[in-house]
Amino acid sequence: MNQRKTASFFYYKVKKQMKNIVVIGGGFAGLNLIKKLDHRRYRVMLVDRNNFQSFPPLFYQVASSGLAQENIAFPFRRELKKLRNVSYHMGHVKGLDLEARTVTTSYETLSYDRLVIAAGSTNNFFGMEGLPENVFCIKTLAEAAHSRDEILDRLERGALCKDPSRRRELLSFLVVGGGPAGVEIAGALGEMKKYVLPREYPELDPADLRITLIEGTGHLLGAMRPESQEKALRYLRELMVDVRLDTMMKGYADKHVTFADGHTEYWETLVWTAGVMGEPIPGLPKECLGHGGRIVVDEYNRMKGYEESVCAIGDIALMTTEKYPKGHPQMAQPAIQQARLLARNLNSGEWKEKFRYRDKGSMATVGKNRAVADLPRMSFGGMMAWMAWMFIHLMSLLGMRNKLSVLLNWTWNYFTYSTSLRLLMRPTKFPLRRHWGD
Ligand SMILES: Cc1cc2nc3c(=O)[nH]c(=O)nc-3n(C[C@H](O)[C@H](O)[C@H](O)COP(=O)(O)OP(=O)(O)OC[C@H]3O[C@@H](n4cnc5c(N)ncnc54)[C@H](O)[C@@H]3O)c2cc1C
Repeated sequence: MNQRKTASFFYYKVKKQMKNIVVIGGGFAGLNLIKKLDHRRYRVMLVDRNNFQSFPPLFYQVASSGLAQENIAFPFRRELKKLRNVSYHMGHVKGLDLEARTVTTSYETLSYDRLVIAAGSTNNFFGMEGLPENVFCIKTLAEAAHSRDEILDRLERGALCKDPSRRRELLSFLVVGGGPAGVEIAGALGEMKKYVLPREYPELDPADLRITLIEGTGHLLGAMRPESQEKALRYLRELMVDVRLDTMMKGYADKHVTFADGHTEYWETLVWTAGVMGEPIPGLPKECLGHGGRIVVDEYNRMKGYEESVCAIGDIALMTTEKYPKGHPQMAQPAIQQARLLARNLNSGEWKEKFRYRDKGSMATVGKNRAVADLPRMSFGGMMAWMAWMFIHLMSLLGMRNKLSVLLNWTWNYFTYSTSLRLLMRPTKFPLRRHWGD
């Protein structure tokens, strides 16, 4: 009896001495950090507005009806249940009090000894009026699913439309931005035009579907090597995507895009992939923010001016170095590497290791057998790159069930181009869910 009392006394003491870490965001950075932290030393609270982790590199496949949302998302509670002293708190962060060391979400206020901000990035519309209300995006899983519904809506309405010129208007899609997300969604729309329309929409002439991609610079995939950029351009043209380089958009109103030279053109549906910025977190002092609204951090990912209590990792963190004067690329690898290093430093109790980014290369896929890959010492494309792309993405997904269902979908699609996923889900209007808080 006495022994049991002594053990529970020590357990209570150890628990009391544990430090509280609040992590905002359970994406690549946040979740990798949480898994690697020493759970005997830290009590960890994960705050995320969604109750699941999702996989942004495959959002474009949700938007183009290639995969279902649940194939690329995994509930936090399932992922965290194996970890001691880790809890999930649903909530949208509404404010920080850096002096009192508290985080206020849409539902509660949490106290921390150390705060780690891993809230990622959001769409940047560069101040263009009317864009957030009128364009479609694929930056979150919800946005990707919304884009899918709107794309399917245009195809169905196009199939019913008797007026040929209105039909062509309805079937006009513009993708803005020639980075990986833009190239991938434009390629997926091109595949729909080339392979899906003739089979599933006999009322439509594929020539009526107009897919255009515009890019402000002179090349696609700016971060990749010239040979990969040229291959991606060729692949998109093979899929009948009209690619316009050196083309800058200045505004979008009444379904008309205004270009830098002043002329306007009609596009029914605009998919915006042209810019990202750090996710705004209310309560952060202006002097802690740098280029692109990202949080300025030192080489240990500690926030400027609050080194003792706040860190930022992943897309939202701006760590400038000689090689990366504008910060590291907003990609999964820097987020994962920063998370692992921060966990090592926090676990050791000392700021020993500085961050050094190991670039493992980048990839983009345009369609079946059409992908490009830049590795540190070589570049390749075509089927090999596509297979490598599929393998890497499959392995990176959370959950065996998700891996298997994505593999099954891809294999099925490869041979048939036919998925049962072209479902147009209209959200219900009532009851209003104001308590969701965002
Ligand atoms: C369409 C698309 C395709 C991409 N393709 C690739 C690719 O092929 N390869 C690659 O390396 N990278 C790719 N990326 C980039 C990659 O996804 C990001 O670099 C990576 O997700 C960054 O990880 P993170 O943890 O910093 O942020 P995220 O993974 O975005 O996670 C942020 C988390 O914070 C939560 N959150 C945000 N704000 C709040 C708030 N206020 N309150 C509560 N929770 C909040 C979000 O719900 C989310 O769970 C792609 C991104 C997109 C959008």
